[in-house]
Amino acid sequence: MQDEDVQARLAALREQYAERLGHDLQTLMAQARELAARQRTVEPEALESLRHGLHRIAGSAGTFGYPALGREAREMELWVQAVLETSVAPTSPMLTTLHDRLSGSYRLLEDSAKTTLGEPQADFELVSGERSVRIAILAEGDTQVLLQSLSGFGYDCRGLSQVEEGDAWQPDVVIIDTANLEPEVWQARIAEVPGAMRVLLSADGSFEARLRAVRGGAQGFFTHPLDVPALERRLRHLVTLPQQDPYRVLIVDDDTELAEHFRLTLKIAGIESRVIDQPSDVLRGLREFVPDLVLIDINMPGCSGPELARLIRFDDDWLRIPLIYLSAESDAQRQAQALAQAGDDFLVKPISDLALTAAVTARAQRSRQLSQALARDGLTGLIKHPAIKELIEIEQSRTQRSGAEACVVMIDIDRFKSINDTYGHGTGDYVIRLLANLLRQRLRRVDHIGRYGGEEFVAVLPACSLENAREAIERIRESFAQMECVAGKEVFHATFSAGVASTLDWTDAGALLEAADRAMYDAKQGGRNQVRVARAA
Ligand code: GH3
Ligand code: MG
Ligand code: MG
Repeated sequence: MQDEDVQARLAALREQYAERLGHDLQTLMAQARELAARQRTVEPEALESLRHGLHRIAGSAGTFGYPALGREAREMELWVQAVLETSVAPTSPMLTTLHDRLSGSYRLLEDSAKTTLGEPQADFELVSGERSVRIAILAEGDTQVLLQSLSGFGYDCRGLSQVEEGDAWQPDVVIIDTANLEPEVWQARIAEVPGAMRVLLSADGSFEARLRAVRGGAQGFFTHPLDVPALERRLRHLVTLPQQDPYRVLIVDDDTELAEHFRLTLKIAGIESRVIDQPSDVLRGLREFVPDLVLIDINMPGCSGPELARLIRFDDDWLRIPLIYLSAESDAQRQAQALAQAGDDFLVKPISDLALTAAVTARAQRSRQLSQALARDGLTGLIKHPAIKELIEIEQSRTQRSGAEACVVMIDIDRFKSINDTYGHGTGDYVIRLLANLLRQRLRRVDHIGRYGGEEFVAVLPACSLENAREAIERIRESFAQMECVAGKEVFHATFSAGVASTLDWTDAGALLEAADRAMYDAKQGGRNQVRVARAA
């Protein structure tokens, strides 16, 4: 969906909300009038219904551009709440006062409709969606090797001279080789790319040179000959490579318009969400959507937010997912009570779009990092051995159920020991990461890639025939063999051998993996740098 479409839909949603708000206020006014006119006592259910209506407005009006009205509703809600909590019945004059305040709110709404429809908070800006990290290189002389090896890591690289002024291509990092450049020249050039982080390469490694770099705003400093693996490590620290998938948020809220507003707001920030308006649908939502985070309303019919949070926590699978209450509840004690039951944090409605996006992003990121740290390998970011085995089992049972074919590929770098021995362990690690990144780039989103051992990888390719898998891996093999690996001043090539096996040919995950391993061993025997297919006996 384009940003303009989202904006148009947000505007439409705002209009729709204004209409609903008018209708809700009139209903509440009618209720208050009717209660005030009564001779007999007012039942708690009638007050509860009033409270619920006010609570909905308190939690949503600010978001749609009516903050004053939201505050007013909140005060009235607290008043009804207090009446409910004491056992003193509200008198007719009290209810008349409530009715008058409600009609005051209604006038507030009419007035703002006469002027312009309240623009909501102007404090959010469009956040660019997913893209590769951009690196510009400024150097005299040949930058080809550096450009190519950084591109191999998945960065989008260009020479800074190729970046035109006012170009939309804004680098995230500028690498400046100061060796043959006058300080005035490179300083002037990097001043043209504000906001980018700077990494300096220098012929002079003295304390003074480093201090000048610090004062020039550099975030990294390297001397010649350049240690490319170390530079790449630093770049990874500076710019965490964008997540492969957008963050996913499950929103549980009975106010569907407000929930839809949150969904669209998060969408602008590149966050995907799914709305659930029935608490009873939450387990299905979790299973189908596998969110990084759940936003839960506190007051919902049939089941409260904290009850729902406790129910979610019954299941070990969802222990790692933050459960965040998003509620109009501003009473600190009630918030604490909710958190004591279950749940990890509290966001109070009305919340500005910017605050919502920031809070959700930070927590979703943390949640991703945590689950990745548990199941992912630190060097490559690939799935660890035990987790990839589970995925193989899942594909195997899918084949048994539906007959769909999946393939398992075992990959092992050739003569890796000699790479370590010749260029050092650091360069060995760099080659492992090069291959990991190549696999990530070349395989499909649905494929799983694991680091199986030191220089061994396993890929699981769902919905893929043996022949297609072989072809795909064959093309990756060719590219890898052509990649230039940089070690100091030396450039060398590495290769791998691979074995492919299909879930159609082996019914047991262990046997399948062994078959792929045997095929890989055949490839080694056959002279390495090749792909072999495991044939069923
Ligand atoms: P082949 O072509 O038969 O696979 O030869 P090879 O040298 O790759 O075979 P082998 O499996 O005997 O050697 C793998 C070496 O990888 C042994 C180990 O020291 C090294 N190694 C294992 N894990 C890592 C790692 O994380 N980083 C680095 N740099 N080296 C590792
Ligand atoms: Mg090897
Ligand atoms: Mg090995």
